[in-house]
Order: sequence, then C-alpha cells, then structure tokens
Amino acid sequence: MGFVIWIDLILFFILFALFVYIFVTVNITKLHKVYLAFHFTMMIWPFCQFAIKTTDQSTYQLFYVKAAFVDSALLSTGWIFFTILLTGQARLLHRKIILLLSIPVILTTAGIIFNPHSWFVQPVNGGYIQRTYGPLFWLFIAVVFIQVTASLYVISAALVQDMAPRVRKQVMLVLKGLLSITLFILLDILLNVVLDPYLPVIPGMTSLGILLSATFFVISINRDKVFDIVTIAHQDVMDTIGHGILVLDEYDNVVEINRSLHPYMHLQRGERFSIHIIFSDLSPAIETFIQTYCEHPLERIEIEIFHSGIQRHLNVQAAPIMISESRVGRIVTFQDMTELQQLIHETNHQNMALQERNHSLIEVQQELFEKNRQLQQMALTDSLTGCYNRHYLTQHLEDEMGRNRKEHIPFALILLDIDFFKSVNDTYGHLAGDEVLCHTVEALKEEIRPSDVLARYGGEEFMVYLPDIAHSEAQRIAERVKARVELNQIRIENVAEPVSVTVSMGLLSISSFSLGNNLFEEVDQALYQAKNKGRNRIVHIAH
Ligand code: GH3
Ligand code: MG
Ligand code: MG
Repeated sequence: MGFVIWIDLILFFILFALFVYIFVTVNITKLHKVYLAFHFTMMIWPFCQFAIKTTDQSTYQLFYVKAAFVDSALLSTGWIFFTILLTGQARLLHRKIILLLSIPVILTTAGIIFNPHSWFVQPVNGGYIQRTYGPLFWLFIAVVFIQVTASLYVISAALVQDMAPRVRKQVMLVLKGLLSITLFILLDILLNVVLDPYLPVIPGMTSLGILLSATFFVISINRDKVFDIVTIAHQDVMDTIGHGILVLDEYDNVVEINRSLHPYMHLQRGERFSIHIIFSDLSPAIETFIQTYCEHPLERIEIEIFHSGIQRHLNVQAAPIMISESRVGRIVTFQDMTELQQLIHETNHQNMALQERNHSLIEVQQELFEKNRQLQQMALTDSLTGCYNRHYLTQHLEDEMGRNRKEHIPFALILLDIDFFKSVNDTYGHLAGDEVLCHTVEALKEEIRPSDVLARYGGEEFMVYLPDIAHSEAQRIAERVKARVELNQIRIENVAEPVSVTVSMGLLSISSFSLGNNLFEEVDQALYQAKNKGRNRIVHIAH
C-alpha cells in the first residue's frame, strides 16, 4: 500500500523531468523559456491552495503550503528575470546579477522547506488549513518585496529611456501586471494573515492577483507578437536575402523556399525537388555534381554554371542538415554570379589593356634610355673621329691624376699635332682633310694600349693619356705611334696618290709627384719645341 500511492507521484516527477528536459533542450528563444517557466510557476500557487483543502492529513497540508510558498519565492524571482527580458534589457543579466537575484530565493526557499522550530508556519487545530506564520514568513515577505521593488526599478529604468511607443506600451502592461499582483498579495496578507483573528478567511486573493498579472502578460505578448519576432525576422531575412535558399527534408521534399528563387523555380512547400531541374545543359562537371548529390548526400558540394534558359551565371551549393550525426535534410543555395562574372570579365579586359599600355611604356622607356645613352656618348665623344673629346679627357684626367698622385703611379701624356695639316686641306679639300684625320686616328689607336685614353684636343691635335707607365715605355709607344702615322698611306677618293702625314709630339712622363706642375702647359711646351725643331719628332720631358 505504502509504495503504491507513490507510483503516481513518481510518474508525475518523471513526466515533469521529461517536460524540463524538452523545455531546456528545445530550440526556442530565451524569452519563450522564461515565460513558460514563469507561467508554469504561476499555475502552482492556485493549485496548491486548492490541494491544501482536499486532505485531512496535516503532513500533506504542510507539503502543499510549503510548495505554494516555494513557488511564490520562485515566482517573485521570475518576475525580475521576465521584466528584464521583456523590457529589452537582457544585457543586465550577467552572471553576478543572476547570482545576486538567486541567493535570496535560495535562502528563503530553504527556510520554507525546513521550517525550523515552525518559524515559518505553525498549524492551528492540528492542521494547516488554518495556520499562523512565524518570523521566517515575514523575512520571506521582505525578500518578495525587495524583488518586487527591483522589478519596479527595472521597469522605471526602461521607461526613462528613449523607447519606441510599442515597447513603452509593453512595459506599461508589465507594470500593471506587477502592480496588480502586488496589490492582491498585500490584500491577502492584510485580510488573511494580519486581520485573520477578526475576519473570516477570504480565499483566492493571491491567485486572483496572479491571474490578473498573467492576463496582462498574455495581452502584452499577443499584441506585440514578441514570441513571433524570431520567426518573422527569419522569414524576412529569408525573403530579402539575394541568395536563393531551398530547404529540403531527407526525401528532398521542399520544406522552405525563399522569394529569391521564385523567378527560377516554381516549387511549393511539400513538393518534391529534383536536382536536374536547375541545369539547362549537361556537361561532365554537372554530371559529376548530380551524381555526388544523389549518391553522397552527406557531402557539401558546389558548382558554378551558366544557365542558358535564364542567361545567368549561378553558383549552386548543396549541404546536408545534420542533427546528432544523422542527415535530416539538405539546404541548397543559389547565388547569382552574373554581375560578378561581368565585373571579373571587365576587370580582366582592363587589366589586359593596362598591361599593353605598360608594355609600350616600357618600350618607350627603353628607347629613351638608349637615346640618353647615345646622348651621353655624344657629349663625351668627338663626332668626326669617334674618339673622346677634350671635355671628357680633362674630366677623366682630373680624377686619374689625383689617384696617381696619391698612390704614386707613374703616367704619361702625349700631345700630338699633325704637321702642315693646313696644306692637306688646301691641296685636297676639307673633306679629304677630314678623312686624313680619321685614318690618322685609326692608325695611332693601333699603337696605343687598350687602357690608354685617346682624345681629340683641338682641330688636328690629339692627346693620349697613358696610365701606369714608365718613362722608357712611354717613349717607346710615342715612337711607335710616330712611325705608324708616318707609314700610313691614306687613300682618298678621287685622289690618285695616297696621302701620308707626319706628326709632332710633346711627351710628358711623370714618376715623381712634386706638386705645382701644370701638365698641360708642359706638354704643350714640348710639342711647341718639337714643331720648332723641324716637326715629325718627339720632345720628351720626364719628371
Ligand atoms: P703645323 O705643322 O704648324 O701644325 O701646321 P699646320 O698647318 O698643321 O697648323 P695650322 O694650325 O696652321 O693649321 C691647322 C689646320 O687644321 C687649320 C684648319 O683648317 C685645319 N683643321 C682644323 N680642324 C679641322 C677639321 O676638323 N677638318 C679639317 N679638314 N681641317 C681641320
Ligand atoms: Mg698642325
Ligand atoms: Mg695645330
């Protein structure tokens, strides 16, 4: 007998545990959960009030009394959470606040459950239908009022903020709900607790307050569709998003199709979807896609196609919807890539044009570089003979002499002048004179070393710089040059006889580096002497 009467209660608790499990795990919003928990808690109070009177056994009566008060402790805490959420101040619900709100309810709940020394409630006439309350009851009332005050604070904090009229109405309804339940609890305490000895018990006061406030909530929730916001937002997002979205169940029946797909697909919810309808032509890539879609539904696949029917580029992706590792459906998305493709095409085109322009720019740059090089060359060389000009020589020599002086490297200078050149011009003409000049340069180039620098110094005067050379070697080269020029038989157009010229040279060779010598003057002096002494000779000054 003892066990049998508990069976129903045990079953009740199992059912209740199942309810809690579903309630916690199901995919609904926090607001749904808080409201359902809150509403469930509100229902317990009137039920317990009724249940107390259905039994004569004081143990059960005490159980119902305790259950009712534990419930109301939970209720007043629930109030705060609910008002916070409903007034859109969920950000307040961080861990510390939740803990602060939970501690009083845990303490008062413990006081109610254990009822130490009957400090919470005492029986009258051996039962709890009529009862008196002790100090823990008043502590409980104090906690409830602190929590009601906190709820009022939350509401007033919400009201002073700038809020939409819709939210303001909602908050006002919550305020009315809170005030009505507070009023009825106060009345209940006044009439049935404080004035209990003088008045008959008036039942249902708190329950009425609870009903009234619940009614305010229901109105608020229904009017503003608070619970539907997520669904409405979800539908809005689905319909306004540019991508086509198709949600299918595991048998490929349409569960949801958004508006973006309507121009391309005339499918209704519940209809069977076939992957083939999205392709206008078949290609090996499309066949592979279809095959993978049909045979490997767990794979996430993607393809880019051009749909000739609608003349659009589409990116199609299919992915399984998984719950606990089993496939419950599939989501197929369609992204219109036409504009993107066009953009890519245009960018490529522009890129190519840019590359071409770049290419021709590089060509121009190379041409300029070459021209510049030629100009530089022209600035340094003599246009008639192709050897260096006087400008280059003086510049080059300045650097060289400095180095030679510093490192004591011997060197030599030859200043060379063609003898009686004027008469060549006079006899054969200026053009022939030019040719004689060029051939003479060719001849003397053959006798100097590659490291020597030959420059045209004046009209028919040339200077040779011979770096790193001893006196005797310089003399030898000078003589070789003189002989070579002399032997040179220059053939000129329209002139029967070959022309030959001689040269006079000043040779200055330096191996001691006393400062103050004017090298050009000295070598010029030497040349002058060579001319004076009868030409076709070398005057050597050695330092
Ligand atoms: P000298 O033995 O004293 O050097 O007698 P020269 O006739 O060579 O000397 P002069 O200085 O009197 O004459 C040099 C001539 O060289 C005068 C000028 O017409 C000629 N000359 C200078 N530069 C050029 C040139 O580039 N081409 C030609 N054809 N003749 C030039
Ligand atoms: Mg001359
Ligand atoms: Mg001369």
